[in-house]
Parts: sequence; C-alpha cells; structure tokens
Amino acid sequence: MHIPESNGSAPWLARVLTIFPEMFPGPLGHSLAGKALEAGIWQLETLDIRSFASDKHRSVDDTPFGGGAGMVMRPDVISAAVEAARGHGGQEHTGPVIYLSPRGAPLTQERARALADSPGAILLCGRYEGVDQRALDRLEVEELSVGDYVLSGGELAAMILMDAVVRLLPGVMGNVETLSEESFEQSLLEYPLYTRPAVWEGMEVPEVLLSGHHERIRQWRQAQAEEITRARRPDLWARVEATRAGRRKQR
Ligand code: SAM
Repeated sequence: MHIPESNGSAPWLARVLTIFPEMFPGPLGHSLAGKALEAGIWQLETLDIRSFASDKHRSVDDTPFGGGAGMVMRPDVISAAVEAARGHGGQEHTGPVIYLSPRGAPLTQERARALADSPGAILLCGRYEGVDQRALDRLEVEELSVGDYVLSGGELAAMILMDAVVRLLPGVMGNVETLSEESFEQSLLEYPLYTRPAVWEGMEVPEVLLSGHHERIRQWRQAQAEEITRARRPDLWARVEATRAGRRKQR
C-alpha cells in the first residue's frame, strides 16, 4: 500500500466554516485522504460559525425578509466567520473562499486541479435555506455545486471537494500515471476496467488486454473511452470534438 510522504512544502490548507465542526474529518480521516492528512500533505481546520454569533443564544440564522419558508444565515455572523478564517490563529489564508451551493458553478476536475495548485481554500458550509446574499457579495465568494440536487447542508459537499483536491496533491497518489488516465482527463470518461479472474461467470476479459501488446491496448482503451463518452455524456463529447477541431484549424 502507498504511504504518502510530505514533499516538505507547506500543506494544502482547508479551513472549513460550519455549524457542525464535529462532522470533520469524517470520511476524510480514512484511506488516501486520511493518510495524507497524517503525513501533513494537507491540513484541515474547522471554525464553528456559532462562535461568531453575538447574542447569548448563539443564533446564526433568522427569518427571510419577504417571507417564505425556512431560515437564512445572517450576513454579520458569516462575514465575521470568513474574516476570521482569512487570518485564523495568526496564519493568514490566501486561498479562495468557496461557498458550497446548489446555485454554484459545477465542481469539475479542472477546478479541482486548479485548487490543488493553490495554497488551499476556505470552505463555507451553508445550512437552512442558505446564506444572506449581502455576505456573499461583500466577501466575494466563489459558489461551487457538487451536483444538480439539494443536500441538507454544505458539509458533505465540502468533503467531496476536499477529497477531489487532496488526491491530486503531490505525493498522495502512488502512481501518477493513474491520474492521467482517469475520467475527465482530456474530457473523456474512463475506459472499462478488468482484473482477475480472466473468465468470471462465463464472461471473458477482452482478448486485447491479455495480448501484452501495449500499443494495441492503448488504442483499444482510447476507442472505448471515446465510445463511452459519446454515448453517456454528449456534453463532454462536444467539448472533445471542439478541442480537436480547434487543433486541426491551428495546423
Ligand atoms: N435553499 C437552497 C436552494 O434552493 O438553492 C438550498 C439550501 S440547502 C437545504 C442548505 C445548504 O446545503 C446550502 O446552503 C449549501 O451550502 C448546501 N448544499 C445543498 N445542495 C448543495 C449542492 N448541490 N452543492 C453544494 N452545496 C449544496
């Protein structure tokens, strides 16, 4: 098993703002992300949004102006929490402030890769109906969504984002080649995978994979990845075609 090793540079720093700090590290304390956390490749800090409330009930939310269901997270409390996260414990955080939100831009592999190249991120986890718009505008937060569905809070979304980023940090994955062949690299989904036994319940592994012929295997995988992407994700496939057309024009 691969044991991650810190490369000596400053750890990727995730500062998570949440009313449920006890949820962390949760699943991120296990497997690859957990080992990388232990190895100091990344660092996880939580700030309890409630500790920035100013009343004796530690309220972080209030009823929406204009009426309607649910509660809204107060701008003064959220703003104080984010400002504290930017300079927490004397250690300034220069990474982006990201509000996990179903209204956000979709979290993509490309964004995860860019985040892995940054010093870290401040992750704001919403609860209730979400955060007062004025705080989001004033703090210039980036909104990212983990999918077209509504979660009950931003904590799981923040964990998804961190998991996607941490596995891209130098030293986390043993085999860097694995990363370059994964889904979404070159906008393609991954080709089908097979392992032993070579025949299982009467089903055989494609013959080419047993041939030992590297170039034929590469071509087969490329064709499969293209076929799967074309069939399952026309949106990604359109991007592949556009990139290829652009390259042809440049020649
Ligand atoms: N009223 C909001 C709406 O309709 O867009 C949904 C609020 S949701 C119940 C509470 C919090 O969960 C949000 O503020 C956000 O932080 C988080 N959340 C829910 N769905 C999410 C998603 N798809 N991606 C990222 N964060 C999400």
